[in-house]
Amino acid sequence: MVPGARLVVLGKQGAGKGTQCVRLSHHYVVPHVSTGDMLRSAVKEGTPLGRKAKVHMDRGELLGDDLIMEMVAERLNESDVRARGFILDGCPRTVEQAKALAEILAPVDLDLVVDIEVPTAEVLQRLAARRVCVDCGANYSTMKPPMVNWTCDVCGGEVVQREDDTEAAISLRLELYERQTAPLIEWYRARGQLEAVDGSGDPDEVTQRMVAAVESRRDRHGGGPW
Ligand code: AMP
Repeated sequence: MVPGARLVVLGKQGAGKGTQCVRLSHHYVVPHVSTGDMLRSAVKEGTPLGRKAKVHMDRGELLGDDLIMEMVAERLNESDVRARGFILDGCPRTVEQAKALAEILAPVDLDLVVDIEVPTAEVLQRLAARRVCVDCGANYSTMKPPMVNWTCDVCGGEVVQREDDTEAAISLRLELYERQTAPLIEWYRARGQLEAVDGSGDPDEVTQRMVAAVESRRDRHGGGPW
């Protein structure tokens, strides 16, 4: 049987995090838990959380730690996650969130935090070209569009540029990332939980590098809790 996994994936917006998380979730057969996707679906459904989130998301600002961690705690308590683990995408974004996450997960901690490293210039190019399906969140780009007229290959939804993928919002998100999220990398590194993986080049190769990082960690730590 394929072992599960409890992973956090970090990386600047546009580092390929979403794509790699989907691949890892298939590889380890665990749910892909994306806070961005959860919030976008709350916005679409017009829930109270969604209405609160939309203003911040459109500006590229982070939402409050308490609000996010309450949503994440609820998801991580569901039976599919408890049975096999998760690939957590988009959270934690701050050291406060990382501390709250460790409390939610106790007594079993994360297997590993994988940081996908891509130079900022490459990320800016990728984000300007990024397009997503409004219904299922599948990722495309102007270089790799869906097969038929901006209609999602997976679900038939409309494929568009995200409202927060404007140049101003992208710059703000990258600046926020440097200021708020980069210290997280140091925090996890100091705890010995971090592996950096080169995120440039072919997505298949990046996936292989990530799986190799997870497996080598398991080998060194005697297979973890799985
Ligand atoms: P993402 O798809 O991960 O880029 O998230 C889209 C937007 O959702 C972000 O720009 C934030 O406004 C919000 N968001 C997602 N995850 C978090 C988080 N962990 N903490 C705060 N805000 C978040």
